[in-house]
Amino acid sequence: MDYDVAIVGGGAAGLMCAITAGQRGHRVLLLEHAERVGKKILMSGGGRCNFTNLHVAPQNYLSANPHFCKSALARYTPWDFIAMVERHGIAYHEKELGQLFCDVSSKQILQMLLDECATAGVRIVLNCEAERIEQAANGFALRTGIGPFSVRSLVIATGGLSIPKMGATGFGYELARQFGHNVLPTRAGLVPLTLSGTHLDHYADLSGLTVPIESHCNGAHFKAGLLFTHRGLSGPALLQISSYWQPGDDLRLDLLPEQSAADVLIEQQRVRPAIELKTALAELLPKRLAQRLCELGFGNLPLRQYRAAQLQTIGEQLQAWPVTASGTEGYRTAEVTLGGVDTNELSSSTMESRRIPGLYFIGEVVDVTGWLGGFNFQWAWASGYAAGQAVK
Ligand SMILES: Cc1cc2nc3c(=O)[nH]c(=O)nc-3n(C[C@H](O)[C@H](O)[C@H](O)COP(=O)(O)OP(=O)(O)OC[C@H]3O[C@@H](n4cnc5c(N)ncnc54)[C@H](O)[C@@H]3O)c2cc1C
Repeated sequence: MDYDVAIVGGGAAGLMCAITAGQRGHRVLLLEHAERVGKKILMSGGGRCNFTNLHVAPQNYLSANPHFCKSALARYTPWDFIAMVERHGIAYHEKELGQLFCDVSSKQILQMLLDECATAGVRIVLNCEAERIEQAANGFALRTGIGPFSVRSLVIATGGLSIPKMGATGFGYELARQFGHNVLPTRAGLVPLTLSGTHLDHYADLSGLTVPIESHCNGAHFKAGLLFTHRGLSGPALLQISSYWQPGDDLRLDLLPEQSAADVLIEQQRVRPAIELKTALAELLPKRLAQRLCELGFGNLPLRQYRAAQLQTIGEQLQAWPVTASGTEGYRTAEVTLGGVDTNELSSSTMESRRIPGLYFIGEVVDVTGWLGGFNFQWAWASGYAAGQAVK
């Protein structure tokens, strides 16, 4: 049987596109090379799927063209996805900062998408690779593990390179190049940073410690938790800033984002001149970190022995603590892949290629990457919906 639309990749974007195209009466074939669809949905949000964010805005996305995501995000909003979640009776809650999670399990989100696919008549084929794809007279000819197909529209929804053991491949990028598209350099995003040498020696034994901080790099800043690991640094504030960081970039941590460290220390010197610096710092920061910072250069004298200018400098250092990361943990643990199919050659309202009519790219394979907090799924839903509305 021939189909109108073939979608390669059964992740969040592919499933949403299949539902939307199927609901419009198209015969939709979805090919997934893994043994099941939606693996990242299942593992997301610690098993509860942070499926969207109430405060989605174009500013929450990184892309060489920051305007590209606007149209799709405006036409399929978090409220559209929430309406589907509510129609399926899935209980959810806002954790913080607009992040919506399932009360029970991410399995419910996947089941909802599969039920919608079934209602829309989508055919899903698992364990199936698209081996060769070529342009044909009236669309595309596909050679697949289950035989040849011809389709009018072809949607590439194969995601990025993160977590190869979950089925990630570079197929979408290769196909884009095959059809003459530019692919912007890819790298791991939302990923822990690694330290090495003395930089690691300074912090490795703090592994497990968490501190509320504000991370700063290349004009971006995120107030959230920092986690020391035995390989380096993680936690939401670090994961977020990792998407803005590249080796050699100036990365700073404000270890006391809610107050002026210098003011606090100078006041402490006035009222408690005999206490040691490490005691004063331990009232502001976890004790082990306070001690380590003193060992690394502040010294540990009674406060009265510091000049005001020295306390001022210590305060300023605490609010712009430099981090020399050696790299990232890479695609093995990254939540997303930055870069990808260049948006300059795609229509922002339909995701269709400007080079090859009938060819669409959606989701993470495109050079649009969201912050941590439900933004990446919202991009997958919105771009999948945009293409699903447009396919012929
Ligand atoms: C651990 C983890 C947790 C996350 N948690 C969240 C979260 O809570 N909230 C959030 O917004 N985002 C989260 N993300 C990011 C989010 O999962 C992705 O941005 C999103 O899944 C991208 O959707 P996609 O459909 O574009 O790609 P994917 O979901 O990666 O789907 C791509 C699909 O294509 C298939 N595929 C690949 N190559 C081929 C091929 N050659 N032939 C056929 N099929 C192929 C893959 O097997 C996969 O099923 C998380 C990511 C990870 C890794």
